[in-house]
Amino acid sequence: MREKEYIVVVQCHIAMERCSGYFCEKAFHERTGGFKGYSKERSYRILYLTCGGCCGMAVHRKLQDLIKMAKSEEKIEKHRIIVHLATCITKDSYHGPPCPHLDYLKIMIQEKLGLDLREDTTISKTAESRRKNGIYKS
Ligand code: SF4
Ligand code: SF4
Repeated sequence: MREKEYIVVVQCHIAMERCSGYFCEKAFHERTGGFKGYSKERSYRILYLTCGGCCGMAVHRKLQDLIKMAKSEEKIEKHRIIVHLATCITKDSYHGPPCPHLDYLKIMIQEKLGLDLREDTTISKTAESRRKNGIYKS
């Protein structure tokens, strides 16, 4: 985790048709939810992008571009980059069930591109309560 300096948040393209991404950014700013493990004492680069729409294949070319540019422009190697899949992709949420292509996204990011991956960004109290009560399954 210490070696990571560049965070990429991948958000569901469909959810982003009606979401600004505010709660993802807030979670990062406050280091809550999926960002709990990041130090508040240091700064990180952070980039937000969407999956490009079902089936999420655009993630491959978007991240490939990032890997190439980060290296050629700033000598940032890919082991210093980490990808977070936003909670609207990984879990039941107000926007709907988790992404049906979640495993495909993970294979692309981890196995094909060799990037480290973490699940989740913002975790709302309402969603947590719905999970506990069995309304949300994931
Ligand atoms: S996790 Fe929530 S705030 Fe973040 S992009 Fe998805 S719907 Fe928007
Ligand atoms: S592939 Fe998944 S994350 Fe992307 S738009 Fe479709 S449902 Fe959303």
